[in-house]
Amino acid sequence: MLGEIRGEVRFKEPLSFHTSLRIGGPADIFVVPQDVDDIRHALLFADREQLPVAVIGGGNNLLVKDRGVRGVVLRLEGCLGRAEFHGEEALAGAGVSLSALIREAAAANLGGIECLVGIPATVGGALAMNAGTPDGWIGDFVSAVYFLHPDGSLGEFKPATGTFTFSTFHPPAGSVLIGCRLRLTRRPLGEIQKDIKVRLKQKKATQPLALASAGCVWKNPQGEVAARLIEKSGLKGKRINGAEISSKHANFIVNRGGATAGDIVALMDLTRERVQAHFGLTLEPEIRSIGE
Ligand SMILES: Cc1cc2nc3c(=O)[nH]c(=O)nc-3n(C[C@H](O)[C@H](O)[C@H](O)COP(=O)(O)OP(=O)(O)OC[C@H]3O[C@@H](n4cnc5c(N)ncnc54)[C@H](O)[C@@H]3O)c2cc1C
Repeated sequence: MLGEIRGEVRFKEPLSFHTSLRIGGPADIFVVPQDVDDIRHALLFADREQLPVAVIGGGNNLLVKDRGVRGVVLRLEGCLGRAEFHGEEALAGAGVSLSALIREAAAANLGGIECLVGIPATVGGALAMNAGTPDGWIGDFVSAVYFLHPDGSLGEFKPATGTFTFSTFHPPAGSVLIGCRLRLTRRPLGEIQKDIKVRLKQKKATQPLALASAGCVWKNPQGEVAARLIEKSGLKGKRINGAEISSKHANFIVNRGGATAGDIVALMDLTRERVQAHFGLTLEPEIRSIGE
């Protein structure tokens, strides 16, 4: 079945090449599918061989452990990478990057999703994380989600307007998101571009974009801001080997060079303990961890 895959199949592929943190051990079997049929072949192979499957989009929210990932890793960035526009709706494949989607929509005078600008993500990863900012989340725009069940059959989920989140969706365990429909709004290109410029400037001023990171490490606890709690716990700039709590944004951990997943986990453990001790609040990770 692996032989039927027309995309790429690699063995012992270092996942540090595929994560924004530049950290992660090897994937036993690494598949870059070319199309939906390739994803089906990979899922059926994993099912037959009783192997676990992990999906990676752009790897921008992932901590891959140092000993790597057993089983099959499907990397969707670059696959299913087309977006089409019909009226005020976009039909986007799971591998389309948010930046390309926003840019292509803008060229067709379609906006609304500018609140997602500057978030490094594939559409699949953005859906899985309900990526966004306090100005809006991708779920606000979703009118349909398409996915493959672990047996390769096609699934569709149609949420009521503005209600989509991954937790309302409840896809069967092991499903792979393959695309979605998004409701956009007619807006002149010039206005969209101006908006994008302001948002990117703001992001650049507040986030350590020049360094390897995985975005916010922690969810904001109810009514609180994780970055503020971490800063008040005296951890801004705290370093363990190559891993550092960013001095620009305390909810980011950056890889200053040579950091391991172990270093990141050690910083996360320290942060959790300190914030618990200072504020009696338990931080929940936003970052997703996979591997051993
Ligand atoms: C510098 C920087 C800034 C960031 N700023 C923001 C921000 O402002 N707002 C924000 O929300 N996030 C932000 N992030 C985090 C990150 O961009 C988002 O979480 C994004 O949604 C991750 O998308 P991805 O394609 O890289 O997903 P990945 O990191 O590859 O995967 C994330 C999760 O989604 C799952 N997944 C991915 N694709 C699929 C699929 N097709 N089917 C099923 N599951 C899938 C993975 O298994 C994993 O559990 C930032 C990250 C960085 C590095």
